[in-house]
Amino acid sequence: MSDYKDIATPSRTKEILKKYGFSFKKSLGQNFLTEPNILRNIAAAAELTSDDRIIEVGPGIGALTEHLARSNGEVLAFEIDQRLIEVLDDTLSIYDNVTVVNEDVLKADVKTIANDVFTTEGGVKVVANLPYYITTPIMMHLLMSGLDVESMVVMMQKEVADRITAVPGTKAYGSLSIAVQYYMNAELAFIVPKTAFVPQPNVDSAIIKLTKRTEPIVDVVDEDFFFKVAKSAFTQRRKTLWNNLISYFGKDDETKAWLEKSLEMSQIDPKRRGETLSIQEFGELSNQLMANKNK
Ligand code: SAM
Repeated sequence: MSDYKDIATPSRTKEILKKYGFSFKKSLGQNFLTEPNILRNIAAAAELTSDDRIIEVGPGIGALTEHLARSNGEVLAFEIDQRLIEVLDDTLSIYDNVTVVNEDVLKADVKTIANDVFTTEGGVKVVANLPYYITTPIMMHLLMSGLDVESMVVMMQKEVADRITAVPGTKAYGSLSIAVQYYMNAELAFIVPKTAFVPQPNVDSAIIKLTKRTEPIVDVVDEDFFFKVAKSAFTQRRKTLWNNLISYFGKDDETKAWLEKSLEMSQIDPKRRGETLSIQEFGELSNQLMANKNK
C-alpha cells in the first residue's frame, strides 16, 4: 500500500479538492493537514497495531485516516460534512478496514455504533485532528460515552492543549485540566506549525496524548458533585477558594458551617486559591462535603 501517493501531500490534496470542487467551511473547523510527516508522527504516537479498534473524528479527505488504516486495525470515522463522503469513498477505496459514518459525532451514540462496526471487542483508541470549535465537547463526549477509551492522540489549539495538560499552581490549570486528568494521564506530544494546514488556522496547534489511568487518581464518592466543586473553585480565579465556595453554595450560617467543617477535615486552607488544589484535594473536599451534608 505504500506505493500509493499520500493523500496529504500538498499537490495531491490540491488535486482532490479541485476534482470535487470542494470549498472549505470555516464553520466546521475545516483545516486539512498537508504534511505527511506530521501525520506519520501522529499515527506513531498512537502506537497502533492490527488488533486495535480506532475511532477518528473528522476524517476530512482522509489524510490521517489512511495512516490509521495502514496499521491494519479497524477504523471507524465520523464525518459531519456530507460533501466529504463521496470524496472519502474515492480516496480510501483501497482500504477495506475503514468505515465512515456521516454523522455529527456529538449527536451520535458512539458506543452503539462502535459495537456494530467493530468485529472484535475491547477498548478503543481515538486518533484525530479535531475541529477546533468543539475540541472540548468532543473529548468529553467520547470520554463519557461508556466506551473503554484506552488512549487519545488528538490535535487541537495549543492554548487548549496547555490547559488540558496543566499542573496545579499554573495559570493554565483549571476545571478542564481536572475533568480530563481525572480519567486520563495527559501529556503534550508535539507542536504543529500553522503552515502544515490548508487553509492555515490563526493559532498554533499541538498534539496531546491521553492514556487511561490504570488506577483512579482519587476515589470520589459522587463524580458529578466532584466536578461541580472543582468548577465552582475556578468561577473567579482571583478570589480565594472560600469566596468562590460561598458564592456557589450560599452565604447563610448553616452553609458556611458545613463548608468550614469540610475544609477543615480535608486539611485545606480556605484562603488558598482554587488553582493551587490538586485533583486529590478536590476529591477529598468533595467527599467531605458529601459526608458532612445534613449533619
Ligand atoms: N482529518 C482531516 C485532516 O487532518 O486533514 C481533517 C481535520 S479538520 C481539522 C476537522 C474535520 O472535522 C472536518 O473534516 C470537519 O468537516 C469535521 N467535523 C466538524 N465538526 C464535526 C462534527 N460535529 N462531527 C464530525 N465531524 C466534524
